[in-house]
Amino acid sequence: MIHSVEELEPHLKGTRILLRSDLNVPIENGTVADPFRLEAALKTISYLAARGARVVLASHMSDKAGSLKPVAEYLKPKLRLTFIEDIAGPAAHAAANALKDGDVLLLENIRRDNREEANDEGFARELASLGDAYVNDAFPVSHRPHASIVTVPKLLHAYAGFQFLAEMRGLMPALEPDAPSLAIVGGAKLVTKVGLIHTLVTKYDKVFVGGALSNDFFAAKGWPVGKSLVSGTDVVGDLLTNPKIVLPETVTVENPTGTHDVGAHDVGENDVIWDIAPSSIEALRPLVQEAKFILWNGPMGNFEKGFTAGTDALAALIAGSHAKSIVGGGDTLSSIQNLHVEDKFTFVSTAGGAMLDFLANGTLPGIEALDR
Ligand code: ADP
Ligand code: MG
Repeated sequence: MIHSVEELEPHLKGTRILLRSDLNVPIENGTVADPFRLEAALKTISYLAARGARVVLASHMSDKAGSLKPVAEYLKPKLRLTFIEDIAGPAAHAAANALKDGDVLLLENIRRDNREEANDEGFARELASLGDAYVNDAFPVSHRPHASIVTVPKLLHAYAGFQFLAEMRGLMPALEPDAPSLAIVGGAKLVTKVGLIHTLVTKYDKVFVGGALSNDFFAAKGWPVGKSLVSGTDVVGDLLTNPKIVLPETVTVENPTGTHDVGAHDVGENDVIWDIAPSSIEALRPLVQEAKFILWNGPMGNFEKGFTAGTDALAALIAGSHAKSIVGGGDTLSSIQNLHVEDKFTFVSTAGGAMLDFLANGTLPGIEALDR
């Protein structure tokens, strides 16, 4: 059973809470370029500080050498916060012990110490001794078996923060979708999504595979894919003949003569498939309209090259349906934001790879570690 941070409420005053948050935000010219994750993380940080906890805040940056200093600058006007260029060493311990009720101490990027990703037990002990209790509010990294995610919670009483619980509760309905159900998967690198697709075909009535993922299915069928991105044709396996799998019937290709919409089996040797074509969206329309539950992750086309039409059309189609809908993935979210339809979905996940692993496996290492 997972315990909510709210169960700590009577014990917070004067208690050192080691809070693992996800403060991994893009930094440009030394300042925070997009504070979205910080604003989300503030809910748990402020909750703890406002009740007199002494908060020791730990996070990674995906840039291993990166510093959380710009994050400290962003948070300082909102909290009584100090930043320390140490992680779990003597300076961090001295600072944690000097905290007063309601203070927040932000540690440096935890991945600067290689022992974090190595899940080193000694490092976990050093970290754990900075707090009297532990809270995980970093769902988007809870698919990683890192020290601060899976070992620290075994050393201290461990709780889940508000963001963590929101992601877990938001995604849970996708594990048992109401019928008729439709899952839509796009993006690239089939190898990273094939496990998820195998789970989805056991739970969903239809699974639409788009984006560069469908190129591997086309190639596995023996259809020409020209110069399109293929990465995992060899892992398609028996999914190719699974009757629940739905592929785009038409695609948008580019070749030296321009861009054209062609049948998926009619791709020429100089063509590059960049997106699904409008008639593929039309073929999806009845499935979307009759579905009671829709799960969607990953773009239908190459965003970097501006092929956003298929993804935008799909976002609009799902936004207009009455189904319960759960969506996630970086490019998927930017499409939804550009169309201003965020509130048309039941839940919008910002958990990235952790969302995929949670849906594929029904749990995450970081969830298991909190379970007691
Ligand atoms: P997300 O970031 O939404 O979770 P992924 O990371 O799995 O999704 O995939 C996103 C990538 O997939 C983007 O870089 C996008 O350009 C790429 N992509 C989608 N469709 C195609 C395609 N037809 N050809 C090449 N790349 C594609
Ligand atoms: Mg991505």
